[in-house]
Amino acid sequence: MAFTNDRQMFDVDLSCAKCGTHISQLPFQPSGDRPVYCSECNRAFRSESRGNDRGFNRGSQAPRQMFAVNLSCADCGTKITELPFQPSGDKPVYCRACLQAKRG
Ligand SMILES: [Zn+2]
Ligand SMILES: [Zn+2]
Repeated sequence: MAFTNDRQMFDVDLSCAKCGTHISQLPFQPSGDRPVYCSECNRAFRSESRGNDRGFNRGSQAPRQMFAVNLSCADCGTKITELPFQPSGDKPVYCRACLQAKRG
C-alpha cells in the first residue's frame, strides 16, 4: 500500500447513520457519540449547507439583540416591552424618549 494520500485514514467498522452503507475508513477518529456518515452522504450534506449559507449573512451586520421585558419607564411610566440590554432589576429603566432627554 503506497502512501500517496497525505490524509490520514482511520480504520473503522461502522454504518452510515443515514443510508446504512458500511464504512471501513474515515478521515477522522470517530468519537463514538456522534453519527457517522458515508462519503456520499457527507458530500450531500456539504452541498446542502453550501446552499443554505448563500444569502445568510452572519457576522458584523447582525441586528442588535433585544430582550423582551415587561417594565415601565421609571420617569414617565411608559410601558417598555423590549430593551437592548438585559435589565439588572436593581436599576431604574427608562423609555427611549426619557433616555434621549437625559442624554441631552
Ligand atoms: Zn450514507
Ligand atoms: Zn419615559
